[in-house]
Amino acid sequence: PDEPAGALILFFDVTRLEALERVRREFVADVSHELRTPLTSIKAFVENLIEERLVDTNESLKFLEIVRKHADRMGALIDDLTDLSLIETGAVALDLAPLDASELGQDVVAQFAFRAQTAHVEIRLELPSPFPLVADQRRLWQVLVNLIDNAIKFSHRGGVVHIAGDVREGRPRITVTDTGVGIPPDAQEQVFHRFFRADKARSRELGGTGLGLAIVKHLMRLHDGQVSVVSELGRGATFTLEFPPPPASNPTDQGLSAGATPKTGTGGS
Ligand code: ADP
Repeated sequence: PDEPAGALILFFDVTRLEALERVRREFVADVSHELRTPLTSIKAFVENLIEERLVDTNESLKFLEIVRKHADRMGALIDDLTDLSLIETGAVALDLAPLDASELGQDVVAQFAFRAQTAHVEIRLELPSPFPLVADQRRLWQVLVNLIDNAIKFSHRGGVVHIAGDVREGRPRITVTDTGVGIPPDAQEQVFHRFFRADKARSRELGGTGLGLAIVKHLMRLHDGQVSVVSELGRGATFTLEFPPPPASNPTDQGLSAGATPKTGTGGS
């Protein structure tokens, strides 16, 4: 009599959903690939017309410059789309190796020196040196470039961008903080979705593709890490990258993660 009268078992067949998702990713990969060829030739012809002064009026030259600018934007969009679809389809394999993120940080910041100066934004690199991580160097570069690029883009004149690092529970974390426009609370989850822009007009005008943070999110997942944001509207934003604990046996890590036992912790993908 105490026995349960029955059991209800539910099965969901996700095969079809997964197949659809695969078709979507492959379609995006194919489209971005196919768009590249005609765009390359449009750009080549426009550039030729401009460089060789094959136009008779200043007006036509001005129009051609506009065509060139939009062709460049479309090129950036296709690059990001291709990259995102390759990462999503699992076609990107990370080349993981121990590296010093503070050294990498210096190189990335050097790349932004001119941009920052023109925008009247100061970049402060405050990563402990050395700051050991296990990561794919090229991909970590791409992640930092995306975050710093946004931090400058959404800053006001006189703003400051801080890049800092610490180790929490054995997990190295890098933060990129700006004192810029900030992100409204209801948009903070969504900034990692592809093509989401908190301020459409502003982002377009600043030349963004709307794919940068989606790429960052996927790259951090591939690293078994994660990215998150906290922000106060009008006061700036902090993006935090969290990496898995470096292998304990690695002697070069001891200075930083001293005493911390590697844990799996929360987060991940
Ligand atoms: P975009 O090319 O538009 O910058 P992203 O994917 O890099 O695309 O960012 C998506 C949106 O997130 C941006 O359009 C902007 O609204 C918001 N965002 C990203 N970084 C910041 C930041 N540092 N400060 C304020 N808003 C930001």
